Amino acid sequence: MTVITRFAPSPTGRLHVGNIRTALHNWLLAKKHGGRFLLRIDDTDAERSREEHVEAIRADLAWLGLDPEGEERQSQRGALYEAAFERLVAEGRLYAAYETAQELDLKRKILLGRGLPPIYDRAALTLTEADHAARAAAGERPHWRFKLDHDTPITWDDGIRGPQQFDPRQMSDPVVRRADGSWLYMLPSAIDDIAMGVTDVLRGEDHVSNTATQVQMFAALGATPPRFAHAALLTGSEGKLSKRLGSLGMADLREAGIEPEALVALLARLGTSDPVDPVLSAADLAAAFDLSRFGRAPARFDEAELHRVNAAVVHRLPYARVAHLLPDGIDAAAWEAIRPNLGHTAEAAEWAQVIAGPVSPPPFDSETTAFLAQAAELAATLDWADPWPTLTAALKDATGRKGKALFLPLRQALTGKDHGPDMKALLPLIARDEAVLRLRAG
Ligand code: GLU
Repeated sequence: MTVITRFAPSPTGRLHVGNIRTALHNWLLAKKHGGRFLLRIDDTDAERSREEHVEAIRADLAWLGLDPEGEERQSQRGALYEAAFERLVAEGRLYAAYETAQELDLKRKILLGRGLPPIYDRAALTLTEADHAARAAAGERPHWRFKLDHDTPITWDDGIRGPQQFDPRQMSDPVVRRADGSWLYMLPSAIDDIAMGVTDVLRGEDHVSNTATQVQMFAALGATPPRFAHAALLTGSEGKLSKRLGSLGMADLREAGIEPEALVALLARLGTSDPVDPVLSAADLAAAFDLSRFGRAPARFDEAELHRVNAAVVHRLPYARVAHLLPDGIDAAAWEAIRPNLGHTAEAAEWAQVIAGPVSPPPFDSETTAFLAQAAELAATLDWADPWPTLTAALKDATGRKGKALFLPLRQALTGKDHGPDMKALLPLIARDEAVLRLRAG
């Protein structure tokens, strides 16, 4: 059976790293099994859903390379939900109820006051045809609840949490449809998962109790539930889901110079027992993806770690991948030379400036200035294919300088900096005449 997964965001805001992690897990699982990854836009909440968010979701997934092989929108699937609704009402699995939010709140408080779990008492099930007719005549419209089957214990073997068991008697019949006819997320989601052939639902553990309910919805709809796996949630480095983490969008990360490979490499492994490596190929991550490696403890997302992974990724990015992002003057050889020194690709501009000049070296004492003048004379005579070893060997012989006394003034005069890429790789990128001038100016 082909593995089919889906990512089902509600377009009520921007995706944050937690959502993206869920999308990635589903993508990885599908790819590992040569299956399909689908996007489902959960836009049943017309008031809060925005087209700009739908577009941003698509753009974020594309940026990360998590391209869906199909897209559905819940707002266009009303007919499907309606048909299932009619059937479940006819079968007595959905029932009309009229309690207001205040009434329900009061019922809950009374139960809690008696030390009982605040489970809906199914009072609406005792209403007669005449009661419903009277309410309809008074212009009252019901909301709808899904009637849990109290006689069938709910179980599933969770891909991450292991065997799960829920007692439906300890659960409230969930409201699935509002009085205005709009849908809450749970029933349409089950209907869609069946229609879309979803085989695996991988989502955050905040959905565990929804799954318990949905297991019965799948059964009521005549389907075998998909396999479920619930990952422990992401927390900030302080140990709780920080506001910052919840609001950290892909645009922020892009602006901060984070490469998609870095985010993917980190999020694929966070919360698992596998090490976070700067793996560039998402296909490699997919091949190694394994639900049994996931732990139950919350996964810590640390921005500093993301920046470390990003640097390691940048150090490995091939020229062809970044060429369009690089400033003039950074060709393939220059990229190879500078990338070990970059934390972010954008820092290439700094080294393009060093290569093209002008640079501003520190003031040198007269002895060093004389040494650099000697270096300039030598440089002017050198073949520029690989000048650094020849230049430094000759200067060492001529002056007796070695180590820092030999290398640092040369680096400072040539680049204006104390640190940077390997001079053997960098020097040939600076034109010979320009290098001679810089050494003379020292
Ligand atoms: N729209 C739901 C959410 O964003 C989907 C959850 C799911 O079934 O994956 O929470």
